[in-house]
Amino acid sequence: MAVVKLIVPTTLRNYTGRNSELSLTGNTVLDVFKALAEQYPDTKNIIFDANEKPMVFINVFIGTTNIKQINCFDTVLKDGDTLTLIPAIAGGAITESVISKEREKENKLDNDEILRYSRHLLLREVGVKGQKKLKSAKVLIAGLGGLGAPLAQYLAAAGVGTIGLVDFDKVDTTNLQRQVIHGTRDVNRPKVASAKDSIRAINPKVKVEVFNEMLTSDNVLDILSGWDIVADATDNYVARYLINDACSILGIPDVFGAMYQFEGQVSVFYAKYGPCYRCVYPAPPPAGLVPTCSQGGVLGVLAGIIGSFQANEVIKLIVGGGESLIGKILSIDAWNNRYQVFDVAKDKECHICGERADIKNIEEIDYQELCGLKVEEEEPILAIEAIELKKRLDSGEEINLIDVREPHEQAIVQFPGAKYIPIGQLARRQEELNPNVDTIFICKEGKRSILAIKTLKEAGYKGACYNLKDGLNTWARDVDKSFPQY
Ligand SMILES: [Zn+2]
Repeated sequence: MAVVKLIVPTTLRNYTGRNSELSLTGNTVLDVFKALAEQYPDTKNIIFDANEKPMVFINVFIGTTNIKQINCFDTVLKDGDTLTLIPAIAGGAITESVISKEREKENKLDNDEILRYSRHLLLREVGVKGQKKLKSAKVLIAGLGGLGAPLAQYLAAAGVGTIGLVDFDKVDTTNLQRQVIHGTRDVNRPKVASAKDSIRAINPKVKVEVFNEMLTSDNVLDILSGWDIVADATDNYVARYLINDACSILGIPDVFGAMYQFEGQVSVFYAKYGPCYRCVYPAPPPAGLVPTCSQGGVLGVLAGIIGSFQANEVIKLIVGGGESLIGKILSIDAWNNRYQVFDVAKDKECHICGERADIKNIEEIDYQELCGLKVEEEEPILAIEAIELKKRLDSGEEINLIDVREPHEQAIVQFPGAKYIPIGQLARRQEELNPNVDTIFICKEGKRSILAIKTLKEAGYKGACYNLKDGLNTWARDVDKSFPQY
């Protein structure tokens, strides 16, 4: 039996007693995951599906090699191997420029531009040719949040000729901790308008096109076509699959960035030359399993690090040369200074870019359903409004009030009278609930509480469960204005 080290990503650490590294034994990768499930029973439902098969949204690496390229879960291990789990969070070939010679020659640099871009012109790898390519290039940035901010700023400063901005959201106070393209005065403005002003201030020579709308399967091909590169700086799985599929169909590279708490990933999904996002993650994790930044938090500076890595990939694709992240995923753990590049391969069976790709028409795919966001009609989750919860608490009626937020969120604000049970422990601690009275679940936004109810019902709990609709944010809005929001 080999003794191996398993590196656990932040998103799954709640299920491994917060441990980031585990020592496990087994002859094969499958043995090690069985040992993991035995030691930490909460991981079982995350790693294995109902048929005891490992889930497709998890990628496992031995060193930097994906087990899919060896013998998958039957791969034999040796002492001292390091296994890394890379779940979906929402190459190496020399990069060829996406800008043709003809387009490079369409542009000249005037004296102002020669001065402005002088530090690029002094680099042999960029030079006048590269700078003219940047001027000809059209780059669309999807999402003007934490990742989109440094992307837009550096691409504008670098002299990318045309920058497109897609976002439907408005600037919120909680964005300002990391979305450095927006300022305090921009709160409540559309993000695309605020970002456009910032780009103009950095470099008035850049043309900016804005799309103040949400990407959907009806508009994604229209919005994405005509661009040389799309940078995916979004924060949700629906947008990521939409952008990947549209880029694959349109034949343009998708420069991908994602982050959560202290960890981030960067890759270039360019189906012509390497794998696409679907090749690596054929399906997203079950809805609610991997929390978003608005639930789990994110280190502000990580957005700058990951977004800047994306800008670097965009610039190499335009200028040509260097080593790109096509066929590779760069994984960064900023808190522990772990930086690794993993190889990822094209999946011949991929539905969008494989040999028998069967997705021809994006409009026909229900991306909400793919990402598990459709409410299952057979088992609706009952909801309760904040005002009703207040009335019931005031009446002195006996209820089970369960807070499923993290301990550090409870340090920000506690909900009076609520009992804390982490979602991972609900199944085995269900005896602590009185099934003869209603159980009301609370969390920050009312999403993790839905996952908690589903988990408990799957574990066979028969009592009535209610979800505090939209979470404690509505308590602050409708019941107690002094209750802090975060
Ligand atoms: Zn693919």
